[in-house]
Amino acid sequence: MFESLSDRLGGVFDRLTKQGALSEDDVRTAMREVRVALLEADVSLPVARDFVKRVTAKATGAAVTKSITPGQQVVKIVHDELQQVLAGEDGIPPLKIDNPPAPILMVGLQGSGKTTTTGKLAKRLKDRDGKRVLMASLDVNRPAAMEQLAILGGQIGVDTLPIVPGQTPVDIARRAKQQAALGGYDVYMLDTAGRLQIDQVLMDEVAAVHAAVQPRETLLVVDGLTGQVAVEVAQEFDAKVGVTGVVLTRMDGDGRGGAALSMRAVTGKPIRFVGMGEKMDALETFEPSRIAGRILG
Ligand code: GDP
Repeated sequence: MFESLSDRLGGVFDRLTKQGALSEDDVRTAMREVRVALLEADVSLPVARDFVKRVTAKATGAAVTKSITPGQQVVKIVHDELQQVLAGEDGIPPLKIDNPPAPILMVGLQGSGKTTTTGKLAKRLKDRDGKRVLMASLDVNRPAAMEQLAILGGQIGVDTLPIVPGQTPVDIARRAKQQAALGGYDVYMLDTAGRLQIDQVLMDEVAAVHAAVQPRETLLVVDGLTGQVAVEVAQEFDAKVGVTGVVLTRMDGDGRGGAALSMRAVTGKPIRFVGMGEKMDALETFEPSRIAGRILG
């Protein structure tokens, strides 16, 4: 489907061999290919441009060693830089879930995979970290969404807050907090309502819940296949409630995952996990080097 960057650059550098430094011309030609590869991987144009500018500086004058071809060398420079941007300057910190009960607020648009990810993360915290987790759905307008979380809870062996009709999202969040404290839970996860697109009602609701529980982590769940839209959604949620981390779902799909680069570069938020399928164990820690490799093809 896609031609990999290594293949592209192999072609560009076919003429070039031996030792020496890459000339500005060589680098310029190579960088055109890098830019196309990034755009094909769904990296946004400004991010791709900026990235290429920085890599150009590093590639110009880089010594061409005998052992590897110039194409591979440029690919390595690009790969390392991608990895660095994806990891961010501070790296990816662990979730702040000490001081029980720690609230985790899950936010995002409807259909992004928020409820599924809530279940996946709860299961992970239980299985890997031995945490006692309580989950609560705040989606008062969609009883089916509340049921969905309860069913997931049953499947993965994680408690859900009993559903009480007629409560507001803030009421439910407060009840979850109380129940988590009384029941000796380490973490309580609040699955907020999503909407098909961002609107004031959704944002006000999320902000009210945020103010009520002061979450330790506010994780934004976005569909990794939606590229630029995912980045815009992240900016809006961040401006309103302050996002502490991002989960990119549907990374098991066909896309190259360029949204990850745009997300990190534009919002500065750490990507913590990637969704790799519908099953409850299909949640992986975000690995910058793996995504860098995938973007390059
Ligand atoms: P919500 O409306 O944001 O709560 O979305 P849901 O959690 O209900 O997920 C919507 C659909 O996406 C469901 O069919 C999920 O099984 C599916 N889904 C969620 N995460 C992933 C993922 O990482 N990969 C794939 N392939 N499907 C996912």
